[in-house]
Amino acid sequence: MIPKQMKAVEKLRRRAILRDLKGRERAQFIASIPASKAEIRDLFDYLDRADEPCDHSLNHSIGFIRHRGLPEEKVVAWLEEHGGYCDCEVIFNVEDVWNQMVEEVWRRN
Ligand SMILES: [Zn+2]
Repeated sequence: MIPKQMKAVEKLRRRAILRDLKGRERAQFIASIPASKAEIRDLFDYLDRADEPCDHSLNHSIGFIRHRGLPEEKVVAWLEEHGGYCDCEVIFNVEDVWNQMVEEVWRRN
């Protein structure tokens, strides 16, 4: 092969590895979701609609989790794992990861 072709092959190979990594990361994220996708999406919607400012706690999130009868400890641990230590961080951090890992894939399929 001439160097130019080798470069192209290498590029494709790297792209495949990256895609594979992303796919695995995504699968792990999806497997770690401690509730149904619809419930988590409802949680984001609920927080988005909350009119009081964030009081730097997970008050609203926990209220929603209890109201829906979700496994509180697991869901809170999951939110924190993805940077959601208070209600506004759930929106900024967790929903952001969620959009990349879950919504993007749904939209594509
Ligand atoms: Zn906050």
